[in-house]
Amino acid sequence: MKAEILAVGTELLLGDILNTNAQFLAQELAALGIEVYYQTVVGDNPGRLEDTIFHAFSRADLIITTGGLGPTEDDLTKETAAKYFGENLVLDEKALAQIEKFFKRIGREMTENNVKQAMVPEKNGVVLYNENGTAPGIIIEKDGKMIVMLPGPPKETVPMFLNQVKPYLAKKQEATFVSRILRVAGVGESAMETAVKDMIDAQTNPTIAPYAKDGESILRITARAKDEEEANRLIDPVAAALRERLGHAVYAEGETDMETVTAGLLLEKGKTLAVAESCTGGMIVSSLIEYAGISKALLEGCVTYSNEAKMKRLGVKAETLEKYGAVSPQTAAEMAEGIARTSGAAIGLATTGVAGPDGGTPEKPVGLVYVALHADGKTKVKELRFAGKRNKIRERAAYAALDWLRRTLQYEE
Ligand code: ATP
Ligand code: MG
Repeated sequence: MKAEILAVGTELLLGDILNTNAQFLAQELAALGIEVYYQTVVGDNPGRLEDTIFHAFSRADLIITTGGLGPTEDDLTKETAAKYFGENLVLDEKALAQIEKFFKRIGREMTENNVKQAMVPEKNGVVLYNENGTAPGIIIEKDGKMIVMLPGPPKETVPMFLNQVKPYLAKKQEATFVSRILRVAGVGESAMETAVKDMIDAQTNPTIAPYAKDGESILRITARAKDEEEANRLIDPVAAALRERLGHAVYAEGETDMETVTAGLLLEKGKTLAVAESCTGGMIVSSLIEYAGISKALLEGCVTYSNEAKMKRLGVKAETLEKYGAVSPQTAAEMAEGIARTSGAAIGLATTGVAGPDGGTPEKPVGLVYVALHADGKTKVKELRFAGKRNKIRERAAYAALDWLRRTLQYEE
């Protein structure tokens, strides 16, 4: 079904009000799998309104209009649509009663011209009674063409669409929508999008949509099908192809997060962990502790912020700190080794970096972070660079450290 959104009103054309109805309807129609090819705005002018409706039906199966259902002479949407469909308008007693009731509720006298709002198509119409205003909405449907006319005020448009039109259109679509999320770590949103751009462009059903949420990159695969089983059958090969393309960067499917996946892997693999944190200040340990049952795997966490603490608590050598500095691969390595040795954990994880805003130098700028991972007698160090404010840098460093631990546990990366 190809759709067009048509907003009627001179105020919109003049820029006096913003066309929020079009935005709302566009999003809702997309979610229903109805493709919107055009959005149009036309003023309250009978000739141009007629032209626009006739033109829109030359390229769309469905037109959704908002506005121009009011009681005055220049509210002409319904009359023009009736003309297109060759419909007579007749009085609908129930609509009239509702309008009368609405005026009673707000304590005003109904005027004679409000009767015009209760006029509905004689044959092929569906009346959408208005709980929040006077003008009922109208659907006219005939010979494969459909117009849905909604009142202009958003507080009437939105509930009428959601409560009455959406279920009506969903039934026509005879389809369910199933989405599956792939969670991607260690690759930014735009890099991820570039990596799978050809696949995104080539897909129509399912569609693939990349987005970023809470610092994570996410791919949403959405299939339209007659039932859930068929939708999943469509999604499976696409999810598999995306996983293959993105490799170890895909860390999970569905509703979960990095700490849950990493904690689960620690327990599954029966590994113990201890963490020494400098710039992340306990964030890694704190997020792992959100996972109930992690006490079997997580032995301890130390926030060794000063050089003294790094030496005293972890056995980092004074000469290492002097020669290479606190933010260096050498210090990070000794921190990871030290926390593993002193705690007896199988894996030692450590962070040290410049979180800013001060303390950056040309060689060691703000955002430079070293993460070290000690396991099975070997120590590896990663140099990472993050942009952003102090807390963003800390959050991203903690997330990257967890992701590396996850990759090590899952793939021995
Ligand atoms: P009424 O019975 O109130 O006259 P109507 O269906 O004739 O309703 P309009 O007269 O076109 O609607 O618009 C009424 C009010 O609704 C406008 O003054 C404006 O505040 C709001 N409105 C109309 N169209 C839109 C739109 N596309 N987006 C956002 N607000 C709108
Ligand atoms: Mg009006």
